[in-house]
Amino acid sequence: QNRIAAARIAVVTGSTSGIGLATVRALAGRGCDVMVNGFGDRAEIDRNCAEIAERTGNRIVYSAADLSRPEEVRAMMADAADRLGPVDILVNNAGVQHVAALHEFPDDKWDLLLAVNLSAAFHAIKAALPSMRERRWGRIVNTASVLGMVGAPHKPAYVAAKHGLIGLTKSVSIEVAPHGITCNAVCPGTVLTPIIERQIAQQAQVTGLPEDQVLQTVFLERMPTGRLIAPEEVASAIAFLCSDAAGSITGAALPVDGGYTTH
Ligand code: NAD
Repeated sequence: QNRIAAARIAVVTGSTSGIGLATVRALAGRGCDVMVNGFGDRAEIDRNCAEIAERTGNRIVYSAADLSRPEEVRAMMADAADRLGPVDILVNNAGVQHVAALHEFPDDKWDLLLAVNLSAAFHAIKAALPSMRERRWGRIVNTASVLGMVGAPHKPAYVAAKHGLIGLTKSVSIEVAPHGITCNAVCPGTVLTPIIERQIAQQAQVTGLPEDQVLQTVFLERMPTGRLIAPEEVASAIAFLCSDAAGSITGAALPVDGGYTTH
């Protein structure tokens, strides 16, 4: 009963590390063939894909598509259908961050963050829907953030994009519900992955905090649980939303945030 349903085909964007990689493991462990996507060391990516395929007996393939480019999003979705078959599950998880005071926030970072965190999901959903509608089954999960629900300083593009992603989730969910397709968002609190590790220095600079206090002061203090969230904790929520059992959950933004958004 741990399976999603009869064998399903999934695309998980931004899955070369962190939450995305844990999601690939979770979906493959539940019987899915999966397309992995994202940047990183090619030998390590190939090793991870081979290890997951070997352990689960499912097909795991890789796309190096740069999702800041709409034509590459479309090509990735077509590639997934060619190599694996019609896509049943789409997890829009790729994300990038940039931290700076608004009056110094670089225009190109605004464009990049909106493209990867928001527009890529629009283009991927658009490409996935025709075959999901035809087959009358589909699961779309968008990795938003607690910063899709509340604001935070020095992250204008990320906060705007993640709020937008939750808006997109709600709009899509209503439109596709009659076709057996659900669309939900998960909203993680702090998970120690490369996206967080890379912003420690930027956070220290913009807040004036010493680097070794950033994690506690900026990222942990608001979480009543007071501890980091494991990538697997977010992945298991995503896998549940991709299951048959979650067929009546749609348009939701599910916090996996140690209580961050409760106060
Ligand atoms: P991560 O840095 O491990 O993963 C980000 C992934 O996105 C990587 O695979 C990276 O290669 C990929 N990526 C970045 N730019 C890309 C592009 N242009 N094209 C294709 N792939 C690209 O970090 P993570 O924490 O696992 O992040 C996953 C998602 O979770 C992101 O959307 C992030 O915003 C969100 N999130 C993370 C946290 C956290 O605390 N880590 C909190 C809330 C939300």
